[in-house]
Amino acid sequence: MRLSQMLFVTLREAPADAEIPSHQLLLRAGYIRRIARGVYAYLPLMWRVLQKVSRIVREEMDATGAQECLLPQLQPAELWRESGRWDTYTQAEGIMFSLRDRWDREMSLGPTHEEVITAIARELIRSYRQLPLHLYQLQTKFRDEIRPRFGLMRGREFIMKDGYSFHADEASLKQTYADMDRAYRNMFRRCGLQFRAVEADSGAIGGSGSQEFMVLADAGEDEVLYTEDGKYSANVEKAVSLPPDPIPSPFTTYEKVPTPNTETIAKMCAALKCDPTQVVKDVLYQVVYDNGLTVLVIVSIRGDQDINEVKLQNELAKRAETYAAKTVLALSVPDANTQAKWAAQPLPLGYIAPDLPDSYIAKRQGVHPTFLRLVDQTAVDLKNFATGANEVDFHVVGANWGEQFPLPDVVDVRKACVGDRAVHDPSQILQSARGIEVGHIFQLGTKYSQAMGATFTDEDGTERPLVMGCYGVGVSRLAQAAVEQSFDEDGIIWPVAIAPYHAIIVIPNTGDAQQVAVAETLYAELNQAGIETLLDDRDERAGVKFKDADLIGIPYRIVTGRSLKQGKVEVVTRATKASQEVPVSEVASTLKQWVTEAIG
Ligand code: ATP
Ligand code: MG
Repeated sequence: MRLSQMLFVTLREAPADAEIPSHQLLLRAGYIRRIARGVYAYLPLMWRVLQKVSRIVREEMDATGAQECLLPQLQPAELWRESGRWDTYTQAEGIMFSLRDRWDREMSLGPTHEEVITAIARELIRSYRQLPLHLYQLQTKFRDEIRPRFGLMRGREFIMKDGYSFHADEASLKQTYADMDRAYRNMFRRCGLQFRAVEADSGAIGGSGSQEFMVLADAGEDEVLYTEDGKYSANVEKAVSLPPDPIPSPFTTYEKVPTPNTETIAKMCAALKCDPTQVVKDVLYQVVYDNGLTVLVIVSIRGDQDINEVKLQNELAKRAETYAAKTVLALSVPDANTQAKWAAQPLPLGYIAPDLPDSYIAKRQGVHPTFLRLVDQTAVDLKNFATGANEVDFHVVGANWGEQFPLPDVVDVRKACVGDRAVHDPSQILQSARGIEVGHIFQLGTKYSQAMGATFTDEDGTERPLVMGCYGVGVSRLAQAAVEQSFDEDGIIWPVAIAPYHAIIVIPNTGDAQQVAVAETLYAELNQAGIETLLDDRDERAGVKFKDADLIGIPYRIVTGRSLKQGKVEVVTRATKASQEVPVSEVASTLKQWVTEAIG
C-alpha cells in the first residue's frame, strides 16, 4: 500500500481524554477514532491488526476441532428470562443494551451468547453420540459498561471470540478445558504477548472453575497475586492467602469504654492502645436482589483485614433463595442518602457492633426487616476482642463470640493482599502485578442447560442436562494490550506477527529519481515475496516520514537514501533501532528470513 493513497493522518498530540500510552498511541498513529463513549472506528491499519489477531485465534481454535459459526447479535428477552439473567443484565448496574422492537417485543444486543447457543443446543443436540461439540464465533459484542475507558481496553462495542462446548460429562468438559488452556497459551504467545494464566472468579457468567489470561502491564485494570515459585497466581478477586497471625489481646475483662472521635480503626486502636488484629470491624452493606428486595448486611472481619466485595457478592448470591430471589442485582456500602431510605434512626457509624439491633431497620415494603449477619474466618477465633458498642464514641473490649455476641454465619470474604503468606506454602509470599484480562475460560457445568432445559439422551437411555464450557478472547482488547506492552517514546512497536505491515519503505527525497526507482522495485519485490510492505511515497520531509514510521510501529523500515551509491539501502529494526546496510538485491531474502523467524 502507498501512503500517498491511504487515509493516513497522524497527530502530534494525544487527545486529552486518552490516559494510557496504548490508547494515546493508537489515536495518534491513526489506528482508531472515537465515535462515542466506548465506541471506536477501526481504521484500515487497525483492521489489519485485528484481522491478524483473528487469524491466529481461528487457527488455534480450529486446531482443537472447534467449529466456527456466527450467532445473532440481536437476542430475544425470552431466552434471557429462561436463564434468569434478563434482570441482572438489564437492571441496576446491568450492562446489556436492550430495546423494544416494532412488535413491542423486548430484545437485547448480545453482551455474550450462552443463552443463544444453549437454545440451539436444546433443539439440535439429542444424543450422547453428538458429543462433545464446540462452536465458536468472532463477533462484535455490546456491553453498556459502567466505566468505558482506555480506548479498546474497555469499549461498549468490541470484538470477542467466544466459544461454547457441550459434553456428556465433567470428564469430557475437563479435557476440552485443558485443550483450551493450551490453545489460549499458543494464541497469546504467537501474538507476541507476555502473559500469565491466573485463577479467576466466575462472575455473572456462572459455573465452577475458571481461569483468566492476563497480559502483564502497569495500566492493567486487574490485580494479580502470585508466588515466585510459580505454583500460585490468581486474580485478587479470587485470591486466597494466610492472614498474618493476630497479636494476643491485652484485654482481659469485658467492658464498655469511652473512645471519643475514633470512628476509624486506626484512631480507635490508638485510643485503646491495641493492635488492629484484636479488633472486630463491622461493615455495613446493602444488597438489592432481583426481586427488588433490599437486605442490610453486617460483615464482621478482623480489624487489619479488608473485605473482598466479589467474594461477598458470591456469598450473597448463594443466599438469594432465602429471600425468594434468584440473584444479586447490586451490592454497595449505603451512603447517607440510601441509609435515609431504610434507617429508623441514625446509625452509630464507626461504632457498629456485630449485634446492631434490627430495630435500626424501619418497617418498609421492599426492605428485609432483619440484618443478615456474616463473620469472616479471620474474626472467628479472636478472643477478648474490641469492637463497636452500637453507640457513638464508645467501644467494647474483652468481648467474645458466644458470650457477648452470638457468632454470625461464618464466610470467607477476606481480601488477599500482597505480602500475605501463600496457602500452598507459607514460606512463599504473595507478590502483586497489574494485568489486562485478554482471555477467560470457564467450566460452566449445567447452569444454563438446566435452566433452559437443554438435555441429551445418555448411553444408558437416561435424559441428562448438557455439561457446558465457555471460552472468551477479547480480540480488540488484546490488540491494544500488545501496544501497552510494547512501545517507546517514539511510538508503537508491534510484535511482527500482528503488525499491520511487516515493512515500510521510506523514500527520503521523492524528487530523486534513483531513490524512487529503487523504492518502487523493492516495493514490488517485497510484496511479491509475501512481505507486507508500505511505501511512503508522500511528498513530505524525510524527518516527518521517519517519525511517522516509528509512530505507527512497523517492524522494519527500509530507507532508499545515501547508501544507494554503494547499491545498498538502510534497514532499521523498529524494536531495537539497530540499523544495517543491506545490498538492494538481498533485501527481500533478508526480510523474508527475519519475518519468518519472528513469526515462528
Ligand atoms: P472485565 O472483567 O474486564 O469486565 P469480563 O470478565 O466481563 O471482563 P468476559 O465476559 O470474560 O469479560 O469476556 C471475555 C473477554 O472479552 C475478556 O477476557 C476480555 O478480554 C474481553 N472484554 C470483556 N469486556 C470488554 C470490553 N468492555 N471491552 C473490550 N474487551 C472486553
Ligand atoms: Mg472475564
